[in-house]
Amino acid sequence: APDLKGTRVTVVGLAKSGVAAARLCAREGARVTVTDRRGEAELGGALAALPASVTRHLGGHDPADFTGAELVVASPGVPLANPEIQEARRRGVAVWGEVELAARFLGGLPIVGITGTNGKSTTTALTGALLARDRRTFVGGNLGTPLSELVLSGEPADAAVVELSSFQLEGIERFRARVAAVLNVTPDHLDRYPDVDAYAAAKARLFATQQPDDVAVANARDPRALAMAGASRADLHTFGFGAPTPASARDEGGEPGPEGTAIWFTPRGRAPERYQLRNRALRGRHNRENAMAAVLCARLMGVPGEAVQAGLDAFPGLHHRLELVAEGRGVEWVNDSKATNVDSTFVGLAAFPSGAPRVVLIMGGRGKKAPYAPLRPLFGGRVKALLTIGEDAPAIERELGDLAPTEPCGDLADAVRRAAVLSGPGDVVLLSPACASYDQFANYEERGEAFRRLATEQAR
Ligand code: ADP
Repeated sequence: APDLKGTRVTVVGLAKSGVAAARLCAREGARVTVTDRRGEAELGGALAALPASVTRHLGGHDPADFTGAELVVASPGVPLANPEIQEARRRGVAVWGEVELAARFLGGLPIVGITGTNGKSTTTALTGALLARDRRTFVGGNLGTPLSELVLSGEPADAAVVELSSFQLEGIERFRARVAAVLNVTPDHLDRYPDVDAYAAAKARLFATQQPDDVAVANARDPRALAMAGASRADLHTFGFGAPTPASARDEGGEPGPEGTAIWFTPRGRAPERYQLRNRALRGRHNRENAMAAVLCARLMGVPGEAVQAGLDAFPGLHHRLELVAEGRGVEWVNDSKATNVDSTFVGLAAFPSGAPRVVLIMGGRGKKAPYAPLRPLFGGRVKALLTIGEDAPAIERELGDLAPTEPCGDLADAVRRAAVLSGPGDVVLLSPACASYDQFANYEERGEAFRRLATEQAR
């Protein structure tokens, strides 16, 4: 572990990760300054966790805090392209992300690092749940608890499963994942990166520090993912739909049978192993991909097959992602409030079988100016009724309203009341808004909680 005693450390950005990093550095005896563009009022409660010894420069950055430091630790919210950070780097100041800092205190702890544009949180939580059946496992990173909290807690752990955003990966140097997985790479965060190549390059850093006895995991049908994992020195394993190949996890594709769906794990040089995916918390083709990735990571970390199967069956799922929140009178109420864009609603709606129109779909909120038309092929044979809410209700009705009986409902409470009337045994009421929530809620979590409450009343 690095010796930070007496070292001048500046921590930039004071969300959860920055606060944890500052506490860790202070505990190690560093002389810590924290700085954030936001002022004290905006940062609020976050500051209370900081020790009194930490110097606070809030409401803007003082360049001297950067150039005068020996180490700058950047929160994932802070781009390393930030001019103060660039100037510090030019002058030879070390710049680490919070994950890099934490990892340096974790010795040889085996880490599973998971990145990708979509599915990171689900795959991280699931992989963590599979490992936790077999050993003491920390699960966190971009999702939930910052890695620095593991160091601070001093709790014994045998492994860590860490969700890594491209922003976090910008700030790694020696951080090494025993198993590194990339789920997919599609254009995202182009407000922070000049182009998709720059975004992919940040993700690729995860593989650059791997060694030959490590394992790289990638989605076989995603060329960017495959290229970055393939460039690693580590042993490459892939996942995807189709025939099993050595060093892979595969699923046959098609509609899941009564038992669910089979995931085949084919270890290098050994016989394939079969796992069943039949957990309603992991509905949909996208979750089959996430589950394949998780099975690969867990088996490659040595989790026994029985523990993997038991973990797949028991996984409770994450809130607001195709989450079954109520069930009654034969109707399932499913909360997909995290679907704040059209792509997410696409994979959410596709998770329900076509053939009979069984889905009463609630959409709407603050639109993102993207067309809703890509959803059109999914409506036929799936959507029984469309209920619209919020600001973008007229646009949704205009673009999709000819495909199913459509009613503008105004707000979520109205939509849930109408959904209860329109749904019968065997139906699903799905909140998958394809919109942000800010016109009517503080965030997607609050929208999802409201849906859970309203649905629970109706399902009684
Ligand atoms: P992240 O942490 O990367 O945002 P989540 O697991 O929270 O990922 O999933 C967010 C949304 O992304 C889900 O609600 C779903 O709509 C979509 N999604 C999840 N997994 C995948 C996947 N493997 N491929 C494409 N889309 C996915």
